[in-house]
Amino acid sequence: MTLDMNSIIPQLQAVVGAEYVIHKPEDLIVFEYDGSVDRALPTVVALPDSAEQVSECVKIAERSGLPIVARGAGTGLSGGAVAEHGGLVLAMTRMTRILEVDVENRVAIVEPGVVNLHLSEQVSKHGLYFAPDPSSQRACTIGGNVAENSGGPHCLAYGVTTNHVLGLEVVYADGGIEWVGGIHRESPGFDLRGIIIGSEGTLAIVTKIAVRLLRQPEAVKTLLAVFSELDDASAAVSGIIGAGIVPAAIEMMDELCISAAEAAVHAGYPEGAGAVLLVEVDGLAEAVEEEVAAVEEVCNLYDPLEIRTATDPVEREKLWSGRKGVLGALGRLAPNYLLVDGTVPRTRLVETLSRIKGISERTGYPIANLLHAGDGNLHPSVLFDERKPGDTEAALKIGGEILELCVEVGGVLSGEHGIGLEKQEYMPLMFTDADMDVMARLRPSFSTNNIFNPGKIFPTGASCSDIRQMAAAIQRAGPGAYV
Ligand SMILES: Cc1cc2nc3c(=O)[nH]c(=O)nc-3n(C[C@H](O)[C@H](O)[C@H](O)COP(=O)(O)OP(=O)(O)OC[C@H]3O[C@@H](n4cnc5c(N)ncnc54)[C@H](O)[C@@H]3O)c2cc1C
Repeated sequence: MTLDMNSIIPQLQAVVGAEYVIHKPEDLIVFEYDGSVDRALPTVVALPDSAEQVSECVKIAERSGLPIVARGAGTGLSGGAVAEHGGLVLAMTRMTRILEVDVENRVAIVEPGVVNLHLSEQVSKHGLYFAPDPSSQRACTIGGNVAENSGGPHCLAYGVTTNHVLGLEVVYADGGIEWVGGIHRESPGFDLRGIIIGSEGTLAIVTKIAVRLLRQPEAVKTLLAVFSELDDASAAVSGIIGAGIVPAAIEMMDELCISAAEAAVHAGYPEGAGAVLLVEVDGLAEAVEEEVAAVEEVCNLYDPLEIRTATDPVEREKLWSGRKGVLGALGRLAPNYLLVDGTVPRTRLVETLSRIKGISERTGYPIANLLHAGDGNLHPSVLFDERKPGDTEAALKIGGEILELCVEVGGVLSGEHGIGLEKQEYMPLMFTDADMDVMARLRPSFSTNNIFNPGKIFPTGASCSDIRQMAAAIQRAGPGAYV
């Protein structure tokens, strides 16, 4: 179908207002990328202000055969918001209202463009907060969190986005506006809410979200454990969980991350450390003291150079500032990084990190390791320079090798960043043909012409046969048990 943009653009302008339709190539450039390495220019961008406007835009695109890509803040790390096939990008950044806060029932209804941290800031006066806390929480939107089923440091104890979303208002491909789930904890019938969460914008556009809010804990203590060796820090993580302790967060950074973060934000991490663990414990004051003591006891078994604790919010924030600022700080080490997102059983962390070190030594590309270690969720960042011919391809190849390694040791392809464009060719490593068929058949039942975010999640087939051979080899080797 040939697109008649001379007709489509005025139709979109009539719905959202002329100033909220972007179509000049020089203006579209800011929408060509997210936080991944992928880039593609959309054909047109519209910024709707309500579910009704989203619905009208969807109907226009549907009639015109334009693919639709929803976009939050564009911080995604797997290419989800990149309009690979062009089309209409619906940017949700005008839909930023917190529509309702029900303090008694601890539920809020928000629009998808609400920035994650803003919700917790707004409800803190009621002693409440929104638990999913991606490290990008100062920028990323709750709509994006829903689409990616995002996690964050504190998801170890509290669960990821899906555990905190009760219901969604969505716009389907025919423009219909419906609620799935609701404000109650249980709703009968198929869990369409659960299917849409994590579907990366491929099934529907989310226009309202009913979220659970949690009561702020009575006490919080943050512990920094410094190790000279990465292996000791990894073993301490297994030790903590093995001792039956589930802190709110266990984050880990290796030497490269520490040096970059320290230079950028001066969080007070000691120079020359091989790894640090940030462990946060929260709850009732007495229980927190006991748990911190237990964590310290375990860490002491693995030769720490130093253990520090902070209770004061300013000191705690300082310890966290290094962790939260580390990705930006990597820019001090190289012009680009490819952040890989895989998860392994915690008992395989030592082995996996040592093999990643081997990959770095063999290829000559530095890899900085940042982990939501308590979940076994690794973020090795391959440092490269896209201006050097072949560097991007090499980084992508290394990223693929790390993902294969994660699956081989019994882990999964993504901890939290989704599949998007980045990992679609690796899907057959984890899923059988039957699994993939079911997922592929589910999609048309939401949108017969796959209008939402086409080209994402499912493999394009380019390198499928190689990957299937690898998958068979991994299956023969037998993955470890997931803990
Ligand atoms: C520095 C940094 C740190 C990060 N840390 C974490 C972390 O700790 N944990 C984590 O999980 N992720 C993390 N991320 C990744 C990213 O921030 C999350 O995936 C986040 O949820 C994306 O939100 P966004 O608003 O930027 O979405 P976008 O990048 O704009 O979009 C992401 C996906 O959501 C879809 N989408 C967006 N809005 C809607 C909607 N309303 N309806 C339907 N689909 C929609 C898009 O189509 C796309 O597929 C990090 C990223 C960066 C850059």
